[in-house]
Amino acid sequence: MNHTARYRGRFAPTPSGPLHFGSLVAALGSYLDARAAHGQWLVRIEDIDPPRCPEGAASTILRQLETFGLEWDGAVMWQHTRNDAYQDALARLTQLTLAYPCSCSRKQWQAFDIYPGWCRDGVCDPNKPVAWRLRSDLGKRPIHWQDRLFGDQQFDPAELGDVILKRKDGLWAYQLAVVVDDAAQQITDVVRGLDLLDNTPWQRQLQSALALPQLRYLHLPLIVTPEGQKLSKQNLAPALAEDEHGVRHQLFQALEALDQAPPKELATEPPATQLHWAVANWSLARLRPTAHRLIPPPSIL
Ligand code: GLU
Repeated sequence: MNHTARYRGRFAPTPSGPLHFGSLVAALGSYLDARAAHGQWLVRIEDIDPPRCPEGAASTILRQLETFGLEWDGAVMWQHTRNDAYQDALARLTQLTLAYPCSCSRKQWQAFDIYPGWCRDGVCDPNKPVAWRLRSDLGKRPIHWQDRLFGDQQFDPAELGDVILKRKDGLWAYQLAVVVDDAAQQITDVVRGLDLLDNTPWQRQLQSALALPQLRYLHLPLIVTPEGQKLSKQNLAPALAEDEHGVRHQLFQALEALDQAPPKELATEPPATQLHWAVANWSLARLRPTAHRLIPPPSIL
């Protein structure tokens, strides 16, 4: 695939806490893929859910990216400033009858795997606050794409359910915001963790409904604990190192997690040297299409 003509990638963290080793691997993979293609690499802070985003977490993340030498292009986009764009997109979807208000609570449909669509033809309880849902059965389906690592993907969004676009409390949902903003930032390539692979069908269905460009996708193996859990704040994934020695080692370990087989002597080099090598030698062919990578031992972290 020739990406060099035009490539715009992005790293889009939710500032719910500092970056951990798993997020470093995602950021690094996205950065290397963009830089190796002589592309742009943008950062977007996905701060649409203030209760989940402690004060200062976003600036910590930006500082962590700088510490690891992951320099981005242009201004950072902040999702908390994007209300009007999301509202416009929701209005268009509603006009197309691809979005609808829903008063049902999770408790009401707990016996089902996905929301059964009771409000599709009219809100069940007009006196209750409403969320807005995607009419996944009426949009484009099935959704088909070639993931650059995991290959052929096909999903029926209707089997995944009518995902929420705007919550009852008025907060915007990730699926809508990510699609609107990837288009606004003219992103061509999404490189992110495998945990988002099954979100991609909704996102592609939304892109199609809103007549937005379709993107290329590369989902990266997830970093997991020895128990097989994805690293997260919930399982107390440690924040990235801040000391020089720790930063160098973790960056090296992240290159190893991406199967780039960096030469051993690189492990003690500063980020700029490691990244210079990694961009020049970035090889997707080396990356094994397996779902998980074990977190490196904590003694080294
Ligand atoms: N904000 C999402 C997260 O932190 C990632 C969004 C994306 O890469 O599409 O998990």
